[in-house]
Amino acid sequence: MTQIRFERDKPTGLYLHIPFCERKCPYCDFNSYAGQEDLYRPFARALAHEIRTWGERLAHPPLRSVFLGGGTPTVLPPDALEDILIAVHEAFAIRPPTEITVEANPGTTDRALFRLLRDLGVNRLSVGAQSFREEELRFLGRIHTVEDIYRAVEQARAVGFDNVSLDVIYGLPGQTPEEWAVSLRAAVSLDVEHLSCYALTVEPHTPLARWVAEGRVPPVDEDVQGDLYDATRAFLAQAGYIHYEISNWARPGRESVHNRVYWWYEPYLGLGPGAHSFDGVRRAWTILSPREYIRRVRAGESPLAGGETLSLPTRRSEAMILGLRLLVEGVSRRRFRRLFGTDPLDVFADPVERFRAVGLLAVRGDRILLTERAYAVANQVFQAFLA
Ligand code: SF4
Repeated sequence: MTQIRFERDKPTGLYLHIPFCERKCPYCDFNSYAGQEDLYRPFARALAHEIRTWGERLAHPPLRSVFLGGGTPTVLPPDALEDILIAVHEAFAIRPPTEITVEANPGTTDRALFRLLRDLGVNRLSVGAQSFREEELRFLGRIHTVEDIYRAVEQARAVGFDNVSLDVIYGLPGQTPEEWAVSLRAAVSLDVEHLSCYALTVEPHTPLARWVAEGRVPPVDEDVQGDLYDATRAFLAQAGYIHYEISNWARPGRESVHNRVYWWYEPYLGLGPGAHSFDGVRRAWTILSPREYIRRVRAGESPLAGGETLSLPTRRSEAMILGLRLLVEGVSRRRFRRLFGTDPLDVFADPVERFRAVGLLAVRGDRILLTERAYAVANQVFQAFLA
């Protein structure tokens, strides 16, 4: 099986997947499980062990970012989160300005937990708000209320978090622009540093997909979602947020460091069930089952489920597509040359020229960028860069 080796470059980002949630949301296809509370502590011990093993194997490299995602990391008992974060500090050279983010879902947090996370070096929270309308939160199967979102952000601020991101979902079936504006306005009123706004997608094999197939819920309307996206861009620009990635907005200087690791095509290490790692040439992924993950780590076996070696054309395509997601930075020709030894304008001469001619791509010195007109059709543009 393909193993990742980090021969050329060490990882600059560490992703830790916490595969548990209090309840499974009907639209969610992430690798997360409800009702496995008995695994919380054994899982944390297994993950901490894997973190330490990798730290030694890589000789304790510095990291630009650590991200605890899921799932819902904040369902773990505080001492389990503490085990994991202490292992991170022991295994890697973590020093400012390393960004350490924890995903926190309202309804699973309190002030004491946030204080503990601060004390453990966490300096960014990503709060899964999703909506500021009770009716929508119920439809999305969320465990929290609107009040819980306000309380979570207030508690985070009270213990000193000055970098908070909110996730919000738009384009629910039948959602009107006015209804979406309620959530947007509320999110902005919290004056958070970062906002991720995602269109609701109906993922196969989810309860939501079944409801749509049975006609119990209307399908999402992509035209309406496109209009809501445009409205979002206009509203957040006026509110002073920089639209720096297709689905992400930030106050100046508060762009997500972690996601940039992916968008810059840098190597990263992903640990925990279902997490992916990338060493610059190879990608590998971990088994999905938390129980099997714990068993294998305890037995000293590899928890990987698979891997692949990426061909040069595939890597160049991926780097191009990921880089184009960055709306302000775009693809740096210099960085691309450093990675692959060639100018992306040579490798992708055809699609670049074609999209330039119709005003969907721009080349400005070192940068290749989507134009604003391309944002709504970005996926079609990306298709043309596939290997
Ligand atoms: S809280 Fe997040 S990860 Fe958990 S089920 Fe809901 S959407 Fe999925």
